[in-house]
Amino acid sequence: MKAVTVTPATRRVEVRDVPEPRPQSPSQVSLRMIRAGVCGTDREICRFDYGTPPAGSDYLVIGHESLAEVAEAGAEAKGWKKGDLAVLIVRRPCGDPACDACRAGRQDFCVTGNYTERGIKGEHGFMAQTVVEDARYLVHVPAELRDVAVLVEPLTIAEKARLEVDAMLDRMPWRRESVNGLHVMVLGGGPVGLLGAMAFSAAGCRVTLASRQPATDVRAKLLEAIGGRYVPVGPPPLGEAVKQAGRVDVVYEAIGAAPPAFEALQALGPNGLFVFTGVPGRRGTPDVDGGALMRSLVLNNQVALGTVNAGRDAYEAAVADLGRFMQRWPDAVRALVTNHVPLADAPKALTSPPDGIKTVIEIG
Ligand SMILES: [Zn+2]
Ligand SMILES: [Zn+2]
Repeated sequence: MKAVTVTPATRRVEVRDVPEPRPQSPSQVSLRMIRAGVCGTDREICRFDYGTPPAGSDYLVIGHESLAEVAEAGAEAKGWKKGDLAVLIVRRPCGDPACDACRAGRQDFCVTGNYTERGIKGEHGFMAQTVVEDARYLVHVPAELRDVAVLVEPLTIAEKARLEVDAMLDRMPWRRESVNGLHVMVLGGGPVGLLGAMAFSAAGCRVTLASRQPATDVRAKLLEAIGGRYVPVGPPPLGEAVKQAGRVDVVYEAIGAAPPAFEALQALGPNGLFVFTGVPGRRGTPDVDGGALMRSLVLNNQVALGTVNAGRDAYEAAVADLGRFMQRWPDAVRALVTNHVPLADAPKALTSPPDGIKTVIEIG
């Protein structure tokens, strides 16, 4: 079968023939991949910043944002049958009996670091014609979401953040029932930011999104369509934009660069929650006055929180929310996928500078 592979030893990114995986146990499902999304992590793997092949392999099949159709379900793959649509959960638990998170099925909170991630760390990913996986790592997708369900995985970042913010609100004695009514400032106009804006808006939040594109950019229209507000910023100061947005309850960072993120953190208001979702590259050191930041965190009861990966709860919330988005804002959701690339051209798409919003590789 054809797959997109990266080979660290020779620094090659290519489409090539690799052995087709076969189910090894009755709880496994064989999947025909429909498409896979491209994100910053994939591009970094193709620059060989990271990415680890499985043990015994010199190459890694990349891809972790998936949509697949079941080709064959094992006898013990309960609830799955041929033709079902599925999105695959990315992270697999470590084997340490003392890792409470992994033992509870919440490897997104793994404490040993010995988890694996399909398409990223130690296991082949989803830019391949066939993928085999245990049913417990599959999430059902309704047929009507086929066109857009490749956005489920990037949406899980926002869904996990929303669940975490919800849990954090418990610290407030006058806690509301949910994030409903909060003012959320989203930083960054990439897919993670835009999907985050949709998730918080659908949950009843007032949403402001700040990004570096001009006010005439398609992002401004997208924000208007989902009932939010777009603020063009930059070059810095982003902190000014946060201050001018009025009282902000939550900042959802989706820039992935430390200097603007820390500048925005320093502008956070009383009781504010700052959620970091980006993994910055090694370039760029934030200009931080540690004393002022500590003073602000303490005197304002602020929370700064990081979130990575997602559990099944966030995947299921993402599928449900994507259905809601499609009811309310179908054109805005469809506008997020700007580039459809055939499998043969995947290496070029992965190694050239990003353009548009979301690129997806069409596999089957
Ligand atoms: Zn990704
Ligand atoms: Zn673990």
